[in-house]
Amino acid sequence: MIVLKFGGTSVADAERMLSAAALVRDCRERRPVVVVSALGGVTDALIKGAEVALRGDESALEPLLAQLRDRHDQMGRILAERAGEDWQALRRDLEPALERISAIYRGLVLLRELSPRVSDLLAGLGEILSSRLMVYACRAQGVPAAWVDPREWLLTNEEFGRAQPLWEEVRQLVGANFPPIVQNHQVPVTGGFVGSTLKGTPTTLGRGGSDFSAAILGVCLEAEEIQIWTDVDGMMTSDPRVVPEARLLEEISFDEASELAYFGAKVLHPSTIKPAMEAGIPVRVLNTLKPKMSGTRITASGSGERIIRAIATKKGITGITLSSPRMLMAHGFLAFIFQVFDKYSTAVDLVATSEVSVSLTVDDVRSLELIRRDLQPHCRVVVQRDLAVISVVGRNFLHQTGVAGRVFGALREINLLMVSFGASDINLSFVVKQADADTAVRLLHRELLEPATVAHL
Ligand code: ADP
Ligand code: ASP
Ligand code: MG
Repeated sequence: MIVLKFGGTSVADAERMLSAAALVRDCRERRPVVVVSALGGVTDALIKGAEVALRGDESALEPLLAQLRDRHDQMGRILAERAGEDWQALRRDLEPALERISAIYRGLVLLRELSPRVSDLLAGLGEILSSRLMVYACRAQGVPAAWVDPREWLLTNEEFGRAQPLWEEVRQLVGANFPPIVQNHQVPVTGGFVGSTLKGTPTTLGRGGSDFSAAILGVCLEAEEIQIWTDVDGMMTSDPRVVPEARLLEEISFDEASELAYFGAKVLHPSTIKPAMEAGIPVRVLNTLKPKMSGTRITASGSGERIIRAIATKKGITGITLSSPRMLMAHGFLAFIFQVFDKYSTAVDLVATSEVSVSLTVDDVRSLELIRRDLQPHCRVVVQRDLAVISVVGRNFLHQTGVAGRVFGALREINLLMVSFGASDINLSFVVKQADADTAVRLLHRELLEPATVAHL
């Protein structure tokens, strides 16, 4: 079997969804299983609606709801017609999710409170709708398809907003739900991103989590390959939207792909690679608009080429500087700081220490105020928002003279707020103001990855 996952832009309208379904048709003999994201922009729209509802702005909510409904309805009509099926039947499939969205909004207007649990309940509905539509797109392409409710196989823990799969349960449920459909010569179609707790409450894997769903499914099915179909040619030397000169990475190792995803290459959710790597299943990133291209192959060995492979950026980062001339030299101070972050399950990305201060960066600020409250009695806490972490990813950095010099030379005009070099052999990361990030990435790309300059590395 192979798993094909289509991202939001790849299923954004009826034509695109039909093209995606044609790709499924073309690999029928490999026994495809399909995972889809919500239609492009829908997850954002659902979340925006929640914000509007929280403000109690009912008049702004109406058009938002109507837009969501119309978009799915219109696509549904086209797809049902192309499939030669009854549109009313598809409408009945869509209705419960659409009805639930408006019920949640009504609830938010009344209660003015949005918990992570309710946020997941809402956000995951985009994938329920899109996967229902995808079944009809497949049928329209002559592919008999059957819907599998993602909440019935992706059991997770209760960490709403970033849930983790309960592997044993998932393995068993995937085994019970998917193979019978395939044996029946149908293609199973399910939604990514959304799952459910053991008690049946919907959860999500976090933004961009459909890639992770595809990997989980691929591992549980012992798939031959996991294909991530998206709107760019594959994993590239940088985000092609920021650096038009970015080049395709034809083959990379699991480690490099993980690093890139973790450091912000949004093309893959950072949790996607680990399960695939452990199971030894190759992952391919492909462009739905150019399906003949071979994309990026992520494999155990990768390709041994260059030292510097790519540059990734993570925006929306918060920097925290803790200073305490009195405490820092005292033993146990660093341990104390990390214990506080650990207590609130907040991952620290980069750390730099000096004699009187510790600077670190975090991505997740949900517990920032609680962290500050715990730290403040012991040290001065300065928080700086709107930062970006830029990471140069490659291998054997430490054995190469001149890399750091070239990096700093290229960035001489940019104010570097923090640097992490030497902690690992595969990346060099630094922090800049978010407003400087794109320029910094372009400068670095030119210095390190464009044909005129790479010969030296
Ligand atoms: P999908 O909806 O298919 O999941 P995403 O928007 O999540 O797609 O991810 C694809 C986007 O990732 C691309 O449009 C691109 O702008 C961005 N991106 C960031 N870094 C990279 C990179 N190194 N290589 C390719 N794409 C990247
Ligand atoms: N629809 C979800 C999101 O936009 C999940 C995904 O697309 O991977 O984050
Ligand atoms: Mg994505």
